[in-house]
Amino acid sequence: MPTPTVALVIPVFNEAAVLPELFARLTTLFDGGHGCEWRAVLVDDGSRDQTAALIRAQLASDPRFELVELSRNFGFQAALSAGLAQARGADAVVTMDADLQDPPEVIPELIAAWRGGAEIVRAARRSRAETGVRRAGFDLFHTLFGRLTDFPIESNTGTFGLLGRDAIEAFHQLPERHRFFPGLRAWIGFPATDVLYDRQERVAGQPQQTLRRLVRYALDGVFSFSHLPLRMLTYAGLFIAFMGFSAGVFFILWRLLGFENSQQGFTTLVVLVLFLGGIQLIGIGVLGEYLGRIYDEVKQRPLYVVKRCTGGQR
Ligand code: UDP
Ligand code: MG
Repeated sequence: MPTPTVALVIPVFNEAAVLPELFARLTTLFDGGHGCEWRAVLVDDGSRDQTAALIRAQLASDPRFELVELSRNFGFQAALSAGLAQARGADAVVTMDADLQDPPEVIPELIAAWRGGAEIVRAARRSRAETGVRRAGFDLFHTLFGRLTDFPIESNTGTFGLLGRDAIEAFHQLPERHRFFPGLRAWIGFPATDVLYDRQERVAGQPQQTLRRLVRYALDGVFSFSHLPLRMLTYAGLFIAFMGFSAGVFFILWRLLGFENSQQGFTTLVVLVLFLGGIQLIGIGVLGEYLGRIYDEVKQRPLYVVKRCTGGQR
């Protein structure tokens, strides 16, 4: 069998502080050989710092590096898709972050698992570096996602991992615009396996994914993999309608039995009106979440716009 080509796909957004160390550690990895042809596809997601210049300098001296520049910041998922498109043709693709939270030293183990027959290899964290609000948010999301969808993702896995050629092709068949990579990776099937690693702290700089983005990402995950929010509305509606009906029957019987209706009940009315109003607004909001996503799909806009590709043979 000829030497397989392994492409690393790395979305990069304002990571100038991290890049020198990233290049150093990748070069060490590549020079180790590991029986692979190496490519590193870096996707510049509209960075406003020296990121693109640094990458260009790197690929001038090392042809194993390639750069895809997007026309603006499209977000991590879009950048990842751009990188996967560029890496088409590789025998395996490793998806990872630029900030070295996903240590490149684990990649040979991913490749070994792939050689052992797994089409999809997920790098699973033995530990998590995040703390505080982010940590709590991640935990809440994974619990919710696990309960809501048919394609649970392990709470200790993220984007870091490897896809074989068939899995990459399957991924490219997916037409949707709201992409939640770990969920889609679970959806496409194929034999998968986990490789454990220790998640690192970011080498330098601040997380580029703001909390707001992560919340949006989490909502994308839930709404694009589950109809349960809609079904819960139906259940809530049925339950409230049943309560209303029972109350009606109760009051009619009350009158028929000769009891008087008292004039009290202002509090009850206010509570009921607010409660029902709230449920209805939540319902409209949930419908809106789906509707907005349908709108985005119907518009058929591309996920990202490539400004320029530099380096690479393909
Ligand atoms: N990133 C990106 N586009 C963005 C935000 C982030 O390509 O709009 C990249 C970023 O450079 C990094 C990876 O996505 O390589 C993960 O981002 P970050 O470390 O900020 O997120 P976290 O570790 O909190 O998931
Ligand atoms: Mg990070």
